[in-house]
Amino acid sequence: MTVSRTYLDYNASAPLRPEARAAVLAALDLTGNASSVHAEGRRARAVIEAAREQVAALVKARPSEVVFTSGATEANNWALSAGWSAVFASPMEHDSVLAPLRRSGARHIVIPAMPDGIAAVESIAERVLLDAEPLGRALVVLQMANNETGVLQRVADTAAFAREHGLAMHCDAVQAIGRVDIDFPALGIDTMALSSHKIGGPKGIGALVVRDGLDIAPLIVGGGQERRRRAGTEAVAAIAGFGAAAQAAGRDIPEAGRIGSLRDALEEQLLRLTPDAVILGRSADRLANTSCIALPGRLAETLVIALDLAGIAVSAGAACASGKVGASPVIEAMGLGSDVARSAIRVSIGADTGETDIAAFLAAWGRIAAAAAQAA
Ligand code: PMP
Repeated sequence: MTVSRTYLDYNASAPLRPEARAAVLAALDLTGNASSVHAEGRRARAVIEAAREQVAALVKARPSEVVFTSGATEANNWALSAGWSAVFASPMEHDSVLAPLRRSGARHIVIPAMPDGIAAVESIAERVLLDAEPLGRALVVLQMANNETGVLQRVADTAAFAREHGLAMHCDAVQAIGRVDIDFPALGIDTMALSSHKIGGPKGIGALVVRDGLDIAPLIVGGGQERRRRAGTEAVAAIAGFGAAAQAAGRDIPEAGRIGSLRDALEEQLLRLTPDAVILGRSADRLANTSCIALPGRLAETLVIALDLAGIAVSAGAACASGKVGASPVIEAMGLGSDVARSAIRVSIGADTGETDIAAFLAAWGRIAAAAAQAA
């Protein structure tokens, strides 16, 4: 018997949008190298520049500010590798921020996480205003929305403080684009990381948005592509798909109300089935599509496997860290105890999710929780 599948893991990767698929397929047949001056090259160049405009429009940036990369991992690595002497970052940041930060040798000044999943950015002011020790070239990193809890961070306020005190600012907006309105110039930040596959584009393509006028040394050197900011022959088909997905994702933003109602109904009914479940970040401002649910006493991996067998795809902690068994570092940082951190799963929904998907999840959840209670 084949089990019909219910995909509730949009934060790990969203289904490919038909518009993105069509754009990828059309661009695959372009022969030219976008750096070539002949007609074939110019055709590839035109596709890239049209996609750049589409991606820029999604975040209200100028096309000249969008630099295509192999994904947000590269964009975050780039932003963190620009020779900082000190970096303010919370332990809730994605590994593609924290790993290059560790490797860079910069001083890591920890922005603590609060129990509701909000980064305590006031700590930056305390450090900057009270600490006599000079910071040197300092960067503040703050994600727009957390990939596990969906909690939205105070990026614009933090950027205003950073600017006033001569600190640079980078934002990982991977989980927020297409879900909340983003106005890159109004945020007042220097750089911002984006990823295509979280908004229904192909995997392996993303961008670093670099404020016009900011001179950032390239991470990948070689040819002069992307106006000397990122070497390597452009991935024309992936870029075309990213552009098409960005345009379509912009139309999704008004859908957040419908998505939020589905997510809220899921949480309410889940708490009725399992009153001891804990919904993380529920009291904070968060993305409408994300629910991070802990069932103390159970292991997240066991829940994910049981749900998978029942046809439901969700994540334990961050899918990017899969293969790793244990507590989610994000939830551990929120200080809710290891029982909560070890049992948290993430349900994340999107444009194609409907009431039947939520009902399928709740039916499976109810069965799994009842079986566990009986076994206990
Ligand atoms: N940042 C966040 C918050 C993410 O969720 C992810 C993907 N899991 C990334 C960065 C990395 O993006 P990519 O898959 O494009 O490398």
